[in-house]
Amino acid sequence: MPPTHDVIVVGLGGMGSAATHHLAARGARVLGLEKYGPVHSRGSSHGGSRITRQSYFEDPAYVPLLLRSYELYEQLERDTGRDVVTLCGGVMVGRPASRTVAGSLLSARQWDLPHEMLDAAEIRRRFPTLTPRDDEVALHEERAGLVRPENTVAAHVQLATQGGADLHFEEPMIRWEALGGGRGVRVHTAEDTYTAGHLVVCPGAWAPRLLTDLGVPFTIERQVMYWFQPTGGVRPFLPDKHPIYIWEDADGVQVYGFPAIDGPSRGAKVAFFRKGTPCTPETIERTVREDEVAAMADHMSRHVPALPGAFLKAATCMYSNTPDEHFVIARHPAHPDAVTVACGFSGHGFKFVPVVGEILADLALTGDTEHPIALFDPRRLTAAPIA
Ligand SMILES: Cc1cc2nc3c(=O)[nH]c(=O)nc-3n(C[C@H](O)[C@H](O)[C@H](O)COP(=O)(O)OP(=O)(O)OC[C@H]3O[C@@H](n4cnc5c(N)ncnc54)[C@H](O)[C@@H]3O)c2cc1C
Repeated sequence: MPPTHDVIVVGLGGMGSAATHHLAARGARVLGLEKYGPVHSRGSSHGGSRITRQSYFEDPAYVPLLLRSYELYEQLERDTGRDVVTLCGGVMVGRPASRTVAGSLLSARQWDLPHEMLDAAEIRRRFPTLTPRDDEVALHEERAGLVRPENTVAAHVQLATQGGADLHFEEPMIRWEALGGGRGVRVHTAEDTYTAGHLVVCPGAWAPRLLTDLGVPFTIERQVMYWFQPTGGVRPFLPDKHPIYIWEDADGVQVYGFPAIDGPSRGAKVAFFRKGTPCTPETIERTVREDEVAAMADHMSRHVPALPGAFLKAATCMYSNTPDEHFVIARHPAHPDAVTVACGFSGHGFKFVPVVGEILADLALTGDTEHPIALFDPRRLTAAPIA
């Protein structure tokens, strides 16, 4: 029997929905399988906003991917008319030697990205809501800003469907097997069994369960997002005045925040980068405690004192961390002819969603990509090579 599809994509969150669009746009017969509904808040791609930036402190190797992702985000907005990107500018704040500042500067210089260095007085002058200490500086980037996760997933789902992809929601994959000998894969759900030439697995926080044979020691981490109504109202926090920021303290703790993007009563969002607690998608505590809110309000009173006026709401989300916090994007080392994986986005993947979709389409259809993804090879994280 010939396979029912060219490619099956499992997990239609950020990465998987982008993959279905890029695969369908290249003429592949695509089946997408998703455990929950389209655009949901039980994984990692919800909460209204994600930071995007180019002077990447994590590693300069990400910059070419970011430049392509920016192009694709703008294309996504043009193709669907949805609001997905707001480039309000951004500041990476901390001491000059902090990873946030020094790492961002390294990427900016290496890739000749437009940026400015601001001392504490200049930060206060340009962005009066921010109150840096005298020994803190910032890298300011005009092309930084935010992307909207729900709108991005909805846009990719829309384009994939228009391109002929067959997307099944509320139909989780139960298991898969590689058939060997270039015969592709078989995928089982409660409803049916499907076959395809290739499987792309984008499981987010479900990676430890769905990709055990990858051998990567993932840590799933509970994260909290907080929305506050600033004292004195949101006007100074609107995106034409207020940048996105990542702010690193002397102890290495990073906090990040957004302008007020959802109207006068919805406040502005802030969160710790990392500092979460280990969890699983089944056991994550979704209730946010009062002491967590108080700790965030206290932290922000030192950096953005007008922000923690009134607490509005909080929500949880999951990071899927690899030990070195770099992504995993590759053909599966144990099933290179049949399976591609995209996981371990370690709390910084959303800004890459469209380019990851493009890379996954390349890997699934040709086995290779022109994008630089050597850093994301899972074999760097396994004790012994699997294949
Ligand atoms: C609080 C928070 C803040 C963040 N901030 C930023 C930021 O500012 N900038 C940035 O770039 N990144 C940020 N990130 C990271 C970014 O959001 C994630 O890297 C990205 O959303 C991961 O996408 P994903 O597709 O891997 O996971 P998800 O979007 O969670 O998708 C995985 C999907 O797989 C589905 N699934 C699981 N099991 C099955 C199964 N058996 N069958 C079918 N489907 C299945 C799930 O239901 C889910 O829809 C943040 C993340 C969080 C949680």
